[in-house]
Amino acid sequence: MKPPAFRYHRPGTVEDALDVLGGLGAEAKVLAGGQSLVPLMSMRLAAPAHLVDVNHVPGLDAVEVDENVVRVGALVRHSALEHHEGAYGAVPLLRQALRLVAHPTIRNRGTTVGSLVHGDPAAELPAVLLLLDGTVTLRSAHGSRNVAAEDFFTGPMQTDVRPDELAVAATFRVPPAGSGTSFVEVSRRHGDYAMCGVAAVVSRGAGRATARVALVGVADGPVLVDVSEAVADGRVDGDAVTGLVDVAIDPADDIHATADYRRHLAHVLVERALHEAGDRAA
Ligand SMILES: Cc1cc2nc3c(=O)[nH]c(=O)nc-3n(C[C@H](O)[C@H](O)[C@H](O)COP(=O)(O)OP(=O)(O)OC[C@H]3O[C@@H](n4cnc5c(N)ncnc54)[C@H](O)[C@@H]3O)c2cc1C
Repeated sequence: MKPPAFRYHRPGTVEDALDVLGGLGAEAKVLAGGQSLVPLMSMRLAAPAHLVDVNHVPGLDAVEVDENVVRVGALVRHSALEHHEGAYGAVPLLRQALRLVAHPTIRNRGTTVGSLVHGDPAAELPAVLLLLDGTVTLRSAHGSRNVAAEDFFTGPMQTDVRPDELAVAATFRVPPAGSGTSFVEVSRRHGDYAMCGVAAVVSRGAGRATARVALVGVADGPVLVDVSEAVADGRVDGDAVTGLVDVAIDPADDIHATADYRRHLAHVLVERALHEAGDRAA
């Protein structure tokens, strides 16, 4: 299958890219790794009249790490972030999640910020951004804004990016000292999108343990649940997990799984992720 005809733009700076996007509005799409957009165009599920290829814009491919955050530029490929030792040291959950994204060839090209903007309800990185209170930085010719993860994912394949905006970076907050994390999922085949996936962080700093999970594949977007009361006495209380998770998710039937099966996966995977994250926190 071939995509519909489009005009190709290749800006050389962020400012040029913003000018082009501002002039074209909803007619244009940013082309990053192309691992989601190009298949959609080839299947005729998307038909932008203009593609704005940002792959030749300098300054968007940096991973910056400090004691508080990992900041990932728009052109950082999944594989570069997965293998970045500084990012792994600060936020191990990034590597734990990225190794589950598609296959290595797709990770070599696809970008982490592109995955966030694309907003697939089964994608791993939106859950990580939400769990770690992350933000996405958006720029247009008129200025810049930071959107918190909880406001960024607005529906299935829908995110709070305006047609004239370029997402220039995403920022993931470093979990508090004494935290352990985990990402677990079940997919039909290795590398497929997950039927259900769970990111977890368990924190055992001073005082009572706290735990949060973010689930994918069980609603229109990633779902954040505070499950601290399910780990309150130092073990994972399965009944409490089920109760807390059930009211938060809203899975649907599709060709891959029934809603009931996804709900079952959510219970099992949250428990599994909490055990793993708890062991790593200890
Ligand atoms: C076979 C296959 C399996 C896959 N499995 C998984 C999986 O298991 N988990 C998973 O998470 N992903 C999976 N993916 C998708 C992959 O992670 C993509 O790389 C990712 O979703 C999109 O990143 P990209 O850089 O390729 O974006 P593109 O395809 O270039 O763009 C995707 C969308 O985001 C917009 N966009 C991209 N970057 C920006 C930006 N900086 N500013 C504004 N808009 C932007 C584009 O305009 C487009 O609408 C899979 C892909 C394939 C082909």
